[in-house]
Amino acid sequence: MSEENAKNQQSVSAYYSQTEEEVFKELETKPEGLSDAEAQRRLSEYGPNELEGEPEKGMFAMILDQLKDMLVIILIIAAAVSIVLGEVLDGSIILAIVVLNTFLGVYQENKASNALKALKEMASPQVKARRNGKVVELASSQIVPGDIVLLEAGDYVPADLRLIEANNLKIEEAALTGESLPIDKNAKVLLDEDASLGDRINSGFMGTVVTYGRGTGIVTQTGMHTQMGNIAGLLNQSPVESTPLQKKLDQLGKVLGFICLGVVILIFGLGLYRGMDFFEIFMTAIALAVAAIPEGLTVVVTVVLAMGMQRMVKVHSIVKRLSAVETLGSTTVICSDKTGTLTQNKMTIEKTYFAGQTYDVTGSGYSAKGELLSEDGQAVSGDHIQLLVQGAILCNDASFDSEAETILGDPTEGAMVVLGYKLGMDKEKWDNDFTRIDELPFDSDRKLMSTVHKHTAEHALMFTKGAPDELLKRCVNVQTANGIEPLTDEKREVILKTNEGFAQDALRVIAVAYKELPAENFQVEEEGLTFVGLVGMIDPPREEAKDAIDTCKKAGIQVKMITGDHRITAQAIGEKLGIASDTGTIEGSQINGMSDEELQEAVKTTNVFARVSPEHKVRLVQAVKRNGDIVAMTGDGVNDAPSLKNADIGIAMGITGTDVSKEAADMILTDDNFASIVMAVSEGRTIYANIRKVVGFLLSCNIGEILVIFIAMLFNMPIPLAATQLLAINLITDAFPAFALGMEKAEDDVMDKAPRNPSEPVVNKMMGVAVSIQSVFLALGALASYLVGYHAQAPLSTIFAGNVDPIAHAEAMTCCFFTLVLGELMRAYSSRSETVSIFKMKLFENSYLNKCVLASLVFMIAAIYVPFLNPVFSTVPLTASELVFAFLLAFLPVVGGEVAKKVRF
Ligand code: ATP
Repeated sequence: MSEENAKNQQSVSAYYSQTEEEVFKELETKPEGLSDAEAQRRLSEYGPNELEGEPEKGMFAMILDQLKDMLVIILIIAAAVSIVLGEVLDGSIILAIVVLNTFLGVYQENKASNALKALKEMASPQVKARRNGKVVELASSQIVPGDIVLLEAGDYVPADLRLIEANNLKIEEAALTGESLPIDKNAKVLLDEDASLGDRINSGFMGTVVTYGRGTGIVTQTGMHTQMGNIAGLLNQSPVESTPLQKKLDQLGKVLGFICLGVVILIFGLGLYRGMDFFEIFMTAIALAVAAIPEGLTVVVTVVLAMGMQRMVKVHSIVKRLSAVETLGSTTVICSDKTGTLTQNKMTIEKTYFAGQTYDVTGSGYSAKGELLSEDGQAVSGDHIQLLVQGAILCNDASFDSEAETILGDPTEGAMVVLGYKLGMDKEKWDNDFTRIDELPFDSDRKLMSTVHKHTAEHALMFTKGAPDELLKRCVNVQTANGIEPLTDEKREVILKTNEGFAQDALRVIAVAYKELPAENFQVEEEGLTFVGLVGMIDPPREEAKDAIDTCKKAGIQVKMITGDHRITAQAIGEKLGIASDTGTIEGSQINGMSDEELQEAVKTTNVFARVSPEHKVRLVQAVKRNGDIVAMTGDGVNDAPSLKNADIGIAMGITGTDVSKEAADMILTDDNFASIVMAVSEGRTIYANIRKVVGFLLSCNIGEILVIFIAMLFNMPIPLAATQLLAINLITDAFPAFALGMEKAEDDVMDKAPRNPSEPVVNKMMGVAVSIQSVFLALGALASYLVGYHAQAPLSTIFAGNVDPIAHAEAMTCCFFTLVLGELMRAYSSRSETVSIFKMKLFENSYLNKCVLASLVFMIAAIYVPFLNPVFSTVPLTASELVFAFLLAFLPVVGGEVAKKVRF
């Protein structure tokens, strides 16, 4: 065994048959976790906690890939033929171009794949671990054997674990065992050494999903030493899929390529028929074939998409798939969560209700300063509502740092802990006095949470908190000033009215209830409860949300708010934000009663959906999609994965979202902010617009060049461009500005237009017309320049008489080359917008384009005026008057570009 292998070996003890203490001892760790130094040492000993994927493509493989290109194969054949025919110079130039092209191809592929890799890393899960006694968030790759990790619903298990704590913990292990039902875990049992994977209920395995509850585990194996690592080689690596746009462009490229190749063959045949020099016509045909094969298109599109994804990170969106960028741009409906996305998720309790009395609470944010005011405005002691606060802070997983004024955990719960502090009730103390012995965690289907606490020798206390309407259904009694009384219909009505009153003020309302249980052998059932009271908290809308919603309206995008909150709270917030429509709010319970067709009709006009659970979200997404809309949907919970997958664009929350939702999503919002979704849509539209600009520009360049040669052949003229000139134009002076066009900033009106129809082809009627006009203008300009150049040296009649003057032809070719290159470079500026006139844009705003154009200009001038390059590019230095004419004619393609903008069908 090599030293390296020996070093990376991890212990393979059957931890599931050892006691907690034995595992701690064997892995040399303790409940407070490892120290940072020890963790670092183990990381270098065992390596990162990662499964080894396919080996990365090396430089050699990338180069080989480039050489498989049709274009490159043609060029290599051409070089070989040239050298065999003794044209060593031409052969060498072509080979130099192949090298340059390969180098650029590898560079671009590398750049795109690095960008994608960086994005993937950003989207990879974080793990909560205990180190030095403190809970820290780590990248899952940093986890080492002996680490203590904390699990909760929605997390991926980061490595193989021996559980030491499991509170109603359920883990879905289908990825490993094929068992689709979640397994109930139990940290306290010891298992036989021969227990199968599926039976190891005191263990957790890398890559499986926590679907419910909470747990803590000691990491036993990491990386390739985990159970998942054992089968990693068998897992399907998902192949890199082309995006719909890439596929469409591929098809388009093929069709156009065949048409152009047909023309090239025609030109070749015509040349031979006219008795032209075989080598000249062969080289011209090759150079035109290079123009005709639009292989470059898909490469440019990939790079533009990948660069766009990198830009989107700056506006807080991590897009996980290339194709999602395209879909984003055509989004017509955004379905957004309310809490935290449209609102700030900074909750402050403003009102409480207990024993028939309403109290106001003063103070704001996460400050412990504030008072309880009775209905007549007098400050009163917190004792008046003690049972309510006790339930709210015991049935609660958040914590509060009163000095730093920050909370840890769910803001809804945090607000209750802050209320406790305001009234002199410290959560930590209560937690110690009333030890939690059991719990049913919160989930957004039940909309409730319960905890059981030690109380007396005979009794335990169970507190339940949650949505008032749900909780009231489970209450039989009510706590009043005179003690516990039955919950009559009138009393229920009063509570519901109070709840509505709170909700009308846009407050989020949570109710608290309790019951006594036997001290032991109890069942945690949310039934037969005694209602205690209500707390109402404000969650202000995000400041930027209203503007973002207005932008959506202008951009023809409907915004729908889908929330688990109460209908009246939802409607109030919806109205504040300008989302609510005349048809009001639809509740989850109403959705239950609707057929698919009715729901499909309802989603056309209704924008606010309340008391919605994750299953309703799936039906809503499907209904919106059936209306032909392209829907983006947000989600954060463990149960949101199905709706995120169903949406055209699933959006997960980067801060509050679970691993499961992030995995299911196409895009992750790093700031959980609605406004960032709108920015991402705007980026998506810009990227698509840029791709159109690139496609339009390249197509008209290529078709224009073919036309120049074709028209010349038709009129019995000599070929006005040398093969090396054509190659240089295609591979240098066209290709670079095209990339630069892909980096254009958003146009001002990008969010003032209706979303594009996703089924419309990239080369639609508008682009078809524009490309045709521009190619013709380009060809006419170049041919005119040839004729002007020729005329300066010899009468034009000699051309058509078949008596071509070689000196005049050389001058004329150079003029044609000059006009074509300069014309295309100037037209690149016009192509910066498909609609806005060149006179109305900030011309030199795209610095990439400026640099590419400048470099191309320097290249062209060098090709004409540097003596040793003249034979390479068949050029001669131009005189001042020739330059002026060639220069003026170069404006013709720009005129073509501008005319194309005005022509509308
Ligand atoms: P959104 O879906 O817009 O994010 P939401 O946060 O209100 O809205 P859920 O988290 O599903 O949606 O909450 C649904 C309801 O459950 C809330 O309106 C509230 O009444 C109740 N609730 C929320 N958090 C808790 C909690 N920690 N404990 C008990 N009940 C809660």
